[in-house]
Amino acid sequence: MKQPLGLYIHIPYCIHKCGYCDFNSHPVKQDEMDHYIDALVCEMQHYAKIHSDTNSIRTIFLGGGTPTTLTAFQLDRIFKECINNFTIVSDAEITIEANPATIGIEQMKSIRQTGYNRISIGVQSFDKTELKVLDRAHGPEEIHSTVDCARKAGFENLSLDLMFAIPNQSLSSWENNLNKAIEKNPEHISTYNLTIEQGTAFSKLESNGKLIMPDDGHQLELYKKTIERLKKKGLHHYEISNFARPGKKCKHNITYWENSNTLGIGAGASSYIDGTRFKNINLPAHYIRQVKEKKTAVEYSETLNSRQAMGETIMLGLRLIEGISIHQFEKRFQISFTIFFKTIISSLKEKGLVVIEKDYLRLSKKGLFLADSVILEFI
Ligand code: SF4
Repeated sequence: MKQPLGLYIHIPYCIHKCGYCDFNSHPVKQDEMDHYIDALVCEMQHYAKIHSDTNSIRTIFLGGGTPTTLTAFQLDRIFKECINNFTIVSDAEITIEANPATIGIEQMKSIRQTGYNRISIGVQSFDKTELKVLDRAHGPEEIHSTVDCARKAGFENLSLDLMFAIPNQSLSSWENNLNKAIEKNPEHISTYNLTIEQGTAFSKLESNGKLIMPDDGHQLELYKKTIERLKKKGLHHYEISNFARPGKKCKHNITYWENSNTLGIGAGASSYIDGTRFKNINLPAHYIRQVKEKKTAVEYSETLNSRQAMGETIMLGLRLIEGISIHQFEKRFQISFTIFFKTIISSLKEKGLVVIEKDYLRLSKKGLFLADSVILEFI
């Protein structure tokens, strides 16, 4: 039987580096981008030979960076190479990430016609001042026009990314952001709290005392408001940071949270296949050179032992609000879940942090707000 495989393709170019960003993103280089796509195709062909007989693709996710810095022609080429090389199920979810200010209506229509059927737009905030604080390359007007263009182009599955815990963000300003997002009627909303990552411009500002982050109590208040507001508007809270209309959960990301097989193509892309994870070189120019020489650009690879794989599966699975299917876990790892993790589970249950209901282990409401520390117990 063919095993499902999620396919991730990384486009590492952005028109501007946002102050908080620690993703693998680099300035747009027109003379490099065609070579980058040649390398993507070469890497894809290499992995297709290994996986196409045994794996069918249910989801493709073109992320970045900013995939919409590529032309419609380049995006079309990537899509066609996926179809040519892999077995893709007929109802596959095919997502492209887009940033406001990088895409117009003609490109949007062309992308939709090519076959991309889900769009994830990096909004972050509808507030002009907050967008400035975040050092984003767009204003609120471009967000509205990008979402409207996506609808006009025929995208019926649209997700918005929002960010909270921005310095000086009040509860009412965040509520206002949530309301504006809801008004755009998206099928899906992701909400992430701003974190300061080492090596970013924000981390320097913070260490110089020029950027003051909201305290934990305020961050929690914003998170609680998110859940209350979005649930009230009919969006189902299905993962710690993600909300969806019925039938519109992000299937690709569920592949990650279920710790299933995913193949990452492109600079800095990570893969997890049958217990082995591997990651490509970050720098696009090095990636291109290495793929030309060796067809792959893996810089790091690790095969997990069974205990590590179990820990990772729980760590990711507990992010889902429904939790982990005990039956599926036992089938996968051939152990008795409740016996193996007996001490940890009973201690967390006593503290009211996890619940076992029917076949599922999940975070309780209290556990949800302390998710990071609960999850650590299993690793
Ligand atoms: S648009 Fe996204 S990937 Fe690009 S620099 Fe900003 S946060 Fe990073």
